[in-house]
Amino acid sequence: MKIAFTWDYEMFFGHKSGTVNACMIEPTNRLLNISQRYNSKFTFFVDAGMLVKGANTESFKGEVNRIKKQIHEWDSQGHETALHIHPHWEDAKWENKWEFNLSRYKLSDFDSEEINSIFERYHRELQMCAAQKIVSYRAGGWCIQPFTDIKDSMEHNQMKIESSVFPGGKNTSSPYFYDFTKVPKKDYWRFSDDVCMEDENGAFVQLPIASQIYHPLFFWKLFILGRLMPSQHKPIGNGFPAKGGGSKWDFLSKKNLLCVSADGYFVTQIERAIRKATERGDEHLVIIGHPKACTEFSLNYLDQLLNRISKKHEIVCLKDMEK
Ligand SMILES: [Zn+2]
Repeated sequence: MKIAFTWDYEMFFGHKSGTVNACMIEPTNRLLNISQRYNSKFTFFVDAGMLVKGANTESFKGEVNRIKKQIHEWDSQGHETALHIHPHWEDAKWENKWEFNLSRYKLSDFDSEEINSIFERYHRELQMCAAQKIVSYRAGGWCIQPFTDIKDSMEHNQMKIESSVFPGGKNTSSPYFYDFTKVPKKDYWRFSDDVCMEDENGAFVQLPIASQIYHPLFFWKLFILGRLMPSQHKPIGNGFPAKGGGSKWDFLSKKNLLCVSADGYFVTQIERAIRKATERGDEHLVIIGHPKACTEFSLNYLDQLLNRISKKHEIVCLKDMEK
């Protein structure tokens, strides 16, 4: 089976974004070191809006240059640079720290002219940082619907892979909107206008993020370990997420369907997903992660995990999954 680790490379979007160093540079350096040990390749979905906005913000230009240097580094090592759009950067303001206004959180909150302009500008800025051609896309906060908003831009820039869907996922409470409850029962499909509807002749490929059920016991363990061993289980990124995920009690009291993830303690559930995918006869498995959410525990665990799974499976970039 081909397994892709896809990292959304970004800061936090709550009242404290955290530093570029702790949220992005440091944990990503650790990820690159781990990948090298097992000769595996990763995909990095770069929050390109931050590059565009940051380049126009005097006090942030130095940070943008450090980010560009890191993109160049992984690009030259054969990892994939991919486009991730969080359009709320359009409304972000630097006032000695980033102030975010999430009232226009997703592309569908903008009109079609604005959407085209955002996509083109963000894509252009990111492509300038990477020698390899950008072919893969993931929407910020999974808000990819309606896909027709960006279809022309994807075509125009010859991008062919989309990876925002996680089967069974649904969140329609503001500022989010996505509904992946009706999707093909497949690990790969072609589509044209609707990411959830297969079209064998479609120009685009959907490589969905794998999802699975997490039991309350998993979250009890996570919260208890966080209390007992904070140095192992505290995220390396030093910011706060935007509100909008489920409440803590939801996770502790009932089953939840979520992405298969390499973030923090979630990394311990990846092999369960690989086992299930193997039983189903799947050929592709896409895992999501965020450098900012890596912990000391998760990086050590990932190191050992890659040691185990890279003997049986190919760890590849998304763009190499399609072949
Ligand atoms: Zn994101």
